[in-house]
Amino acid sequence: MSDWRLRGQERYLKGVALFWAAYSPYREGWDHNHCSFCWRKFAVHGGDFTEGYITEDRYYWICKDCFLDFQGKFDWAVGEDTGRPA
Ligand SMILES: [Zn+2]
Repeated sequence: MSDWRLRGQERYLKGVALFWAAYSPYREGWDHNHCSFCWRKFAVHGGDFTEGYITEDRYYWICKDCFLDFQGKFDWAVGEDTGRPA
């Protein structure tokens, strides 16, 4: 199993809960994040995506393509976005 997008993410993304959400910056002053796998850009304006899957701590973003490609390998649990603050 080799894919150019895999760089050891299982160390921090294996088996975690993911939530589908509209992009919002992790903290003030950040205007974009990158997909944890393919490195495409999430941004409110001017990115490749405006929504995607996030980890519970809202730190890691995963685009839908990578989610579909890797969900079998990473055993993600997809939850409802509770809308609670980060
Ligand atoms: Zn991706």
